[in-house]
Amino acid sequence: MKIEKKYQTALNDLICHLRNSRFLTDDRVETAFRNIPRHVFVPESELDCAYYNEPLPIMKNQTISQPGVVSRMTEWLDVKNGQNILEIGTGSGWQSAILSYLTDQGTVYSIERHPELVKFAQDNLKKLKIKNVHVILGDGSLGYSKAAPYDRIIVTAACTEIPLPLLEQLNENGLLLAPVGDESQSLILLQKTAKGIVEIKNQSSYVFVPLLGKFGKK
Ligand code: SAM
Repeated sequence: MKIEKKYQTALNDLICHLRNSRFLTDDRVETAFRNIPRHVFVPESELDCAYYNEPLPIMKNQTISQPGVVSRMTEWLDVKNGQNILEIGTGSGWQSAILSYLTDQGTVYSIERHPELVKFAQDNLKKLKIKNVHVILGDGSLGYSKAAPYDRIIVTAACTEIPLPLLEQLNENGLLLAPVGDESQSLILLQKTAKGIVEIKNQSSYVFVPLLGKFGKK
């Protein structure tokens, strides 16, 4: 997609900052960032800040995640062409669109609990003519069994513990990434193996809005 000059400069500066701080190290993720412009996913009132490395308010007291967090999570998730992906917490649809770019021939199912945000994300995805993301209204803590199993599952809201249905809906050798904790969370990357669930990576000091719902915050 061709980006207007004022956003292009801001995007270049953001990418440079993320590279220098090592929140972005993977060329494929950089290409996805360049092809899925963040300003398409922020409300009009936030356009001037679209390429700041900060979370921004969208609606219903929710946020579009910080670019550095999205680049790191996307790198950890290591999406391959053709994979079946589940995202919990669609918000603006920006992370869904990045995943859709990377899975290309595959499909992204993204679950959001606020109808207003389902519509916001769907409208944003339409602007980029993205066809391989299905945004679904519902309680993402239950997963989405209809399209399971998933090669990759990403949770973009803070879990007190990993919801059991998500582990059940993960494919063998699949990866699941989620922020886990109360006030501050650790990003935890898990893999489902023949021998059970194995932790691959864990990094502390992230802050997300809470995951609500049946297997979310009480
Ligand atoms: N990935 C988003 C983006 O790119 O804009 C940011 C997600 S925002 C930090 C977290 C989202 O999770 C919010 O939109 C919130 O409404 C949603 N959420 C929280 N609990 C949920 C649940 N049980 N099911 C579905 N969505 C949930």
